[in-house]
Amino acid sequence: MDGKEFRDWSLKAAEWGADYRETLRERPVRAQTQPGEIAAGIALSPPEAPEAMEAIFADFEEKILPGMTHWQHPRFFAYFPANAAPVSVVAEYLVTVMAAQCMLWQTSPAATELETRIIDWLRQALGLPEGFSGVLQDSASSATLAAVLTMRERALDWQGNKQGLSGQPRIRVYSSDQVHTSIDRAIWVSGIGEENLVRIPTAGRWRAMDVAALEAAIVADKANGLLPAGIVACVGGTSTGGTDDIAAVAAVAQKYGLYLHVDAAWAGSAMICEEFRHFWTGVEHADSIVFNPHKWLGAQFDCSAQFVRNPDDLVRTLAIKPEYLKTHGKDGVVNYSEWSVPLGRRFRALKLWFLLRAHGLSGLRTMIRNHVAWAEKLAARIAATVEFEIVTEPMLSLFSFRHVPSGVTDLDEHNLRLINAINDDGRIYLTQTRVDGHFAIRFQVGQFEATEQDVDTAYSVITEIAASLR
Ligand SMILES: *Cc1c(COP(=O)(O)O)cnc(C)c1O
Repeated sequence: MDGKEFRDWSLKAAEWGADYRETLRERPVRAQTQPGEIAAGIALSPPEAPEAMEAIFADFEEKILPGMTHWQHPRFFAYFPANAAPVSVVAEYLVTVMAAQCMLWQTSPAATELETRIIDWLRQALGLPEGFSGVLQDSASSATLAAVLTMRERALDWQGNKQGLSGQPRIRVYSSDQVHTSIDRAIWVSGIGEENLVRIPTAGRWRAMDVAALEAAIVADKANGLLPAGIVACVGGTSTGGTDDIAAVAAVAQKYGLYLHVDAAWAGSAMICEEFRHFWTGVEHADSIVFNPHKWLGAQFDCSAQFVRNPDDLVRTLAIKPEYLKTHGKDGVVNYSEWSVPLGRRFRALKLWFLLRAHGLSGLRTMIRNHVAWAEKLAARIAATVEFEIVTEPMLSLFSFRHVPSGVTDLDEHNLRLINAINDDGRIYLTQTRVDGHFAIRFQVGQFEATEQDVDTAYSVITEIAASLR
């Protein structure tokens, strides 16, 4: 591709992108293809001769697009949002075009210095006290892995990386039964082992970890010669928004000298609004906090912010060159690859800089407040509709419900049929979970360009399709 072609196709891609975003409401939210259908349209082997861009682009539209689920669709109510605000897409184009590897300060000083500043902007936006620094990781999974490795090394007096885990005391990590699967995987990958992730039962409206049970488990483990290392607490669990009492958990962590990591991957974005911060009261006592601006806030994936109270612990765990320990952050030179598992890093701060400036915190707060208000309104409407019930009340903008028509005995099967029919219809997209063993339909409002009208449409689609199943 020569310079002229690069210009022409970049412009064409930009035009295509703008058209795509404008016409999203006309598309089915979830891909409507069957497994293997897209692969069947792709050549089995790579071409020997170059092909024309016209043909490649045409195939993209014809063969790929039908197999895309449209995450930026305003009626995407499934999972959690993966918002890519248009302004962050523009920034991301610039990042892609420069394609710098930003692992060290000197490999792109602007990327490092902007990242430091943006992390502090986010810290202020979330109302976290001074003293937290942090890093932009690719995902919450990576941030949690980094935190779990840090708690492991800290508990082993920094000998795990050197000596391995055999011959060490058995490490124990504690979490509720509501945490994301990324915690399980961090426990596997860090060599701690699933049997040493102690699941503390939850109770109450927010499905918070039973703190007395947490303390009892720690005491029992110590008595048995095991090595408690840390706690992973959650604010806004993926299934139904399960949220621990962070202040109470932090007090236990402090009492037993354990490392506390808080996973607020989704809900963290809402903490730009002061009125939602009660959900993580006490968070200032955490050692590590992760939230994903790439979920609700609008920074194109990937963009996960990890705040740490003591970066020395993180860097001591992950830096491959120990001599850098003595200088990082002290003389103006930070090498962020020493704060994360991968070496190579994208320039992630630019899209946040664009996003935060173009929308301002007030604009982003309005979006989040609207989503929460619309979710609460919809939940109330569903609760008041005959033969529907709310399974879990809204936690911010997430709730779950199910259809309970009289005469239907297998409600799980019925609601599975309902959600499949809704997603095949295509006007909205929902996903499911299990609550106390029963199937429930999740609903979250969070798409960057969703309107109240889109949420009203969701109500119509749900009730209309439910009626048609009778
Ligand atoms: C989405 C989510 C994660 C995983 O986030 P990734 O960035 O995809 O790794 C972890 N925890 C919670 C609570 C989440 O909602």
